[in-house]
Amino acid sequence: MIRISQLASSVQPSATLAAGAKARELKAKGIKVFDFSLGEPDFDTPKHICDAAEKAARTGQTHYTPAAGTAELRKAIAKWYGRFHGLECGPENVIVSNGAKHSIHNVLAATVGPGDEVVIPTPYWVSYSDLVMMTGAKAVLVTTAMETGFKMTPAQLSAALTPRTRLLMLNSPCNPTGTVYSRAELEALVDVMAPTEAAILSDEIYEQLTFGTAKPTCVATLRPALKDRVITVSGASKSYAMTGWRIGWAVAPAPLVKAMDNIQSQETSCPSSVSQAAMVTALESPESDQCVADMRAAFAVRRDLVCGLLSKIPGVQFPVPEGAFYAFFRVADHFGKTFGDKKVTDSMTFCTALLEQAHVNLVPGSAFGAEGFVRMSFATNKETIEGGLAKLKDWLASGV
Ligand code: PLP
Repeated sequence: MIRISQLASSVQPSATLAAGAKARELKAKGIKVFDFSLGEPDFDTPKHICDAAEKAARTGQTHYTPAAGTAELRKAIAKWYGRFHGLECGPENVIVSNGAKHSIHNVLAATVGPGDEVVIPTPYWVSYSDLVMMTGAKAVLVTTAMETGFKMTPAQLSAALTPRTRLLMLNSPCNPTGTVYSRAELEALVDVMAPTEAAILSDEIYEQLTFGTAKPTCVATLRPALKDRVITVSGASKSYAMTGWRIGWAVAPAPLVKAMDNIQSQETSCPSSVSQAAMVTALESPESDQCVADMRAAFAVRRDLVCGLLSKIPGVQFPVPEGAFYAFFRVADHFGKTFGDKKVTDSMTFCTALLEQAHVNLVPGSAFGAEGFVRMSFATNKETIEGGLAKLKDWLASGV
C-alpha cells in the first residue's frame, strides 16, 4: 500500500467543490437540484475573449511562455491596475499563475513557513487555511461578527499580532460574506500593520463585482510607505466569467515576483499560453468593460431578489452583501430541530438534510470558519433562485 504523506493527509478537500459533487450525483439520478454551491459565474466567457483565444491557438501561440507569464500580459495587467485603481506598477511587479488560488499558494510558499503566523479574519474563503497549513505556517483566525458586517476591527487585528506574524490576509469583496470594506476601514487596518514587519496579502478577485454605493479598494494604493509590503492577488475567473481558463496573478514587489517566478518555473513551467493571450484581450478590449458591467448589473438584480426572498423566511438573518455573488445567512435558530428523520445540529447536518430532503444545495458555514451560517451563491438564474428559496422556506417550516 502506498503511504500518503503527512501533508496530503492533513489537507481537507475543498468544501465548495465537494458540495457541488454531491449535487451532481443527485442530478445524475434525474433529480432536480437547486444548486447554490458553486462559486462561479453562470455566464459564458464573452465572445470577443473566446475569439482571441481561437486566434492565438491558430497562430502558433501554443508553446511554453516565460514562467511568470508573457511580456504582453504582464504589461496589460500592470496597465490595468493604473487604469482601474490608480496603482503605479510595471510588468516586473506582475506574475501570472494558473488561477488566483495558485497565485495565493505561490505567495504563501514564497513568504511563510514553519513557525510563522498568518492572520486571517473569519469567515474566510475555504482554501485560505489549508493553503497556509501546506506551507507549515499557522493560520491565526480572527472571528468577526454578523452584527458588524463581518468586518475585522483594528483592535481585533492588533490583538492577533505576535512577533511571529508574517502575513495578514484580506479579502474585500469577501467570499463568503459579500462584505466590502470601505477605504477608510482598510486604511485603519493597514495602519495597524505599519509598525510591524509583516506583509499584507490582499485577495481582490471580486473587485469588479460590487453593488450600489460599495466601491472596491486596492489595498496597495492606501499607504505609499507600505507599498513594498503589500501583495495584491486577482484574476480572470469572477469578473470575466473565465473560471476554466485558469488565469490569476499577483502584483508584488519585484524581488517577491522573482522568488515566485522561481517557484513557478519548477512547479508548472507557465500558465496556459492560449488563456494568457485571451486575457490580454479581456483586459484591453473596450468591449470587456460593457460585458463586465452587464454581468455586474445581473448579479445586482439577483442580489436584491435573494435578499428580498430571504428576509421573508423566519429564523434567517444576514447582512446585505455589497459585493461578490454570495449571501451568507445565519440559520442557527433552526438547529436542534428535526427535519424528516434527521436532527439538525450544525451547519453541516443542516446542509446535508436540506440537500437530501428538499434538493437545495448550500455550503455549510463551518467550511468558512463560521458555524451557524450557510453560504448561498447567487451566480444562477432567477427561476433557480425563486424555486430554491421557496423550497428552503417550506423545508424550514417543516422542522419540529
Ligand atoms: N479567492 C477567492 C476569495 C475566491 O472566492 C476564489 C474562487 O472561488 C479564488 C480566490 C480563486 O479563484 P481562481 O483560482 O479561479 O482564480
